[in-house]
Amino acid sequence: AVAGGPSGIRQVKLERECELRIEVSPDSPLRLRLLTGTAEIFGTEIAPEIWLSFPPGLKFAVFSWYGATIEMDGATETDYTADETPMISYVNVHAVLEGRRNRAKASPTDSDLSEGPRVIVVGPTDSGKSTLSRMLLSWAAKQGWKPTFVDLDIGQGSITIPGCIAATPIELPIDPVEGIPLEMPLVYFHGHPNPGANVDLYKVLVKELAQILERQFAGNAESRAAGMVINTMGWIEGVGYELLLHSIDALKANVVLVLGQEKLFSMLKDVLKSKPNVDVVKLQKSGGVVTRQGIVRKKARHFRIKEYFYGLANDFSPHSNTANFGDLSIYRVGGGPQAPRSALPIGAEPAADPTRLVHVTISKDMHHAVLAVSFAKEPDQIISSNVAGFICITEIDFDRKKITYLAPSAGELPGRFLIIGSLAWLET
Ligand code: ADP
Repeated sequence: AVAGGPSGIRQVKLERECELRIEVSPDSPLRLRLLTGTAEIFGTEIAPEIWLSFPPGLKFAVFSWYGATIEMDGATETDYTADETPMISYVNVHAVLEGRRNRAKASPTDSDLSEGPRVIVVGPTDSGKSTLSRMLLSWAAKQGWKPTFVDLDIGQGSITIPGCIAATPIELPIDPVEGIPLEMPLVYFHGHPNPGANVDLYKVLVKELAQILERQFAGNAESRAAGMVINTMGWIEGVGYELLLHSIDALKANVVLVLGQEKLFSMLKDVLKSKPNVDVVKLQKSGGVVTRQGIVRKKARHFRIKEYFYGLANDFSPHSNTANFGDLSIYRVGGGPQAPRSALPIGAEPAADPTRLVHVTISKDMHHAVLAVSFAKEPDQIISSNVAGFICITEIDFDRKKITYLAPSAGELPGRFLIIGSLAWLET
């Protein structure tokens, strides 16, 4: 038996507009199925009768608009039903976005009118930003749109591993278990789970991503009309707030959804009132959102990297490759003093240029480092290029000058240049 909530097979009756909030046991998965009625998980409808299996520790809710009976099998940390949710207000936002998409679709050749909504979801950590983004995307996809999901949360992003910002079109409602399919997202590597480690680089990457999306939208009326849903990080004070404004600007967001913070809402409303085409909307945070401690976030980052190499259900077969030191060309962005102290005027501190590219030699501290493989053809394109994927250094042999690394597959890497940050992963 497992500590926590009940276990074994049981049924739960959900009244209309109610949700069943679940934290799966940390030790074992939970099976769940819909017996009667209709229900959805974060915007994605679940099929009747079919058992779904949720991994240990997952926190989610099954919501029903018209009532449902749910059957569960397995242990939970907690499960309870709630009749107070902000779902009506969320679906009302969806309806407004839908109207804008239809309007955009009706004038595909007009450069302004053909722009669908660009929604940015902001708020403190654990206010339900990722969850709301997901619902808006899944509801839109259900109606046949292919909105672009942009995830700027480099700590807990849901498109790829931590330390990155990324974008991908969402063509189907997001699978409640599998999450977002990892087919060819557009990914930029920052290299740190916290943008504070290099704020300028974060801004540069957001700008690069925005430019590429702008180009894609220009050539594709369908995705232009469907628009974007942009998820952001929970850092909303000081520099974090500056970064939010920068992202709103760079991605030309025209709907700002503020979750669960009055102060942030009034600040944004005030600063954005000079832009008449930007709507700032305050939304209530769901009582179901679970607060995650620092250690839980760290663990989640670890699992995201593991999932990248091994798959959610351990169903991928990553490959351990060996290379000579000379075969790998590794770069770091920023850091390192620019000029020796002796070369500076007396009293001046050597400033590290945050977007300077530094070629680095292989050293012990690279053990377990997670590196990105850049699409750049030349070193000076590294910062402005997106990345193909990641490798993790597992062994360094200084005598034989050989390096062993884990990669998603065997064979040659998709690019010559590798980027290193502070991201590391230790297989456990
Ligand atoms: P943020 O993106 O603002 O940090 P998330 O959307 O990731 O917040 O939500 C935090 C956690 O709460 C996630 O594990 C999410 O699955 C969970 N969660 C969100 N809404 C609900 C809900 N209504 N019921 C149960 N769990 C929820």
